[in-house]
Formats: sequence, structure tokens, C-alpha cells
Amino acid sequence: MLESSSGVSETLRVRTLRQSLARCANPGSQIRERYTRSHEKEIDMNFPEFKPADKQAELEAFYSRHKLGRDGRPTAAWERENLTTFVPAYPLTLAFPPGTQVTRIRCHIKVADSLARVFEKILEHYGSLEEVKRARMHLFAGCFNFRLIGGASRLSTHSWGAGIDIDSEKNPRGAKHVESKGMMPMAVVRIFEAEGWKWGGRFTTIPDCMHFQATK
Ligand SMILES: [Zn+2]
Repeated sequence: MLESSSGVSETLRVRTLRQSLARCANPGSQIRERYTRSHEKEIDMNFPEFKPADKQAELEAFYSRHKLGRDGRPTAAWERENLTTFVPAYPLTLAFPPGTQVTRIRCHIKVADSLARVFEKILEHYGSLEEVKRARMHLFAGCFNFRLIGGASRLSTHSWGAGIDIDSEKNPRGAKHVESKGMMPMAVVRIFEAEGWKWGGRFTTIPDCMHFQATK
């Protein structure tokens, strides 16, 4: 009995996700779906075809509008519905405070597979963890974080777990990209962009070279 009742709710959940995906999908896009051990639904998308524009309404439509608790933070239920964690291809270290190892990254379910592939490709590109570290691409500076964009009144893509920061120390917000100064390697930018992610180094207002987001 228990199994069938949980099956029903799972079917509803899948249907809702399918409907929301259908609204965003372009013809020919590929969707791979799978169940994690916790039976949470995960969806792998072909990001170049599936991403929303970087506008609050589109972000809410695609990544789900936050349900906030009395503390003004997303509710635990919203987080359960929309977020997941994955183990990156190589261990990361917190950029700040330094030294804390990060073995799982918490992000939106819709970007998890894509982000996991990015880390696989970064490791593949550098060939070893030592080389990844030499390039400082193990320095994780945050993914899911419910907050406003600095100096603005709209939510950051981090608020949906659809933005990620790497090596914040060498890539401070506002700094113009100069790769020879040890800033974000263009090889890594190309890996993210091949997955359809947008690089903050290309923002026309304030460059943010540490930042990547799953938007147009
Ligand atoms: Zn960021």
C-alpha cells in the first residue's frame, strides 16, 4: 500500500516537471531522467536549448518560484523539491574560509548533471588533481545561496542553485578579466559555455569572472 501511494505522488511530481519542462523545451531537445537513491527526481537537460533568460520571471518559471518561510528564507520543502547534491569529479576546497574540503555541491536539480559534467571535463582538461589545483579550479566559492545580486534588488541565480563561483580571490567581482594575471582560465570558460552556461566575465555591466550561471 505504501509503495503504491508513494508511486502516485511520484507520478504527479513527474507530470508537473514534464509540464514545466514542456513549456521551456525546444523541439529536438534531449531529456534524460533518472532516480537518485532518495527517489528524488533528477532531470538532465541539454542546456544550450533549455535555459531561461536571466530575468526574475523566467528564472522563477524555470527554476521554481521560492516559497519563503517566516524567516524570509526558502522553506525546507522548497529546498527538498528543487535542490539536490552531487559529488564533483574531484574534491574541491572552500575558497573562503580556506581549507575546508567540499565533497558535495548543492545545486538545482535541473543543473546537477550538467554541472557534474563540467567538473569531469575540467579534470579531463587538466589531467590530474595537481594540475587542477595549479590552475586554482578546486577553489569553490559557493553555489546555492539565497541572496540578492550585490548592489541590486533582484535575486542572484545562486538563489536557485543555478549559479556557481570558482576562485573568488583571483576573480573578484568588478575586475576585468586578464588571464595572464591568473584569473579564470579561458579553457574552463569554454567548458562551461559548451554546456550552455553563461560566464560572468562576459557581463556587460559589472564583470564577475568567478561566476557561471545556467541561463541564456
Ligand atoms: Zn556568483
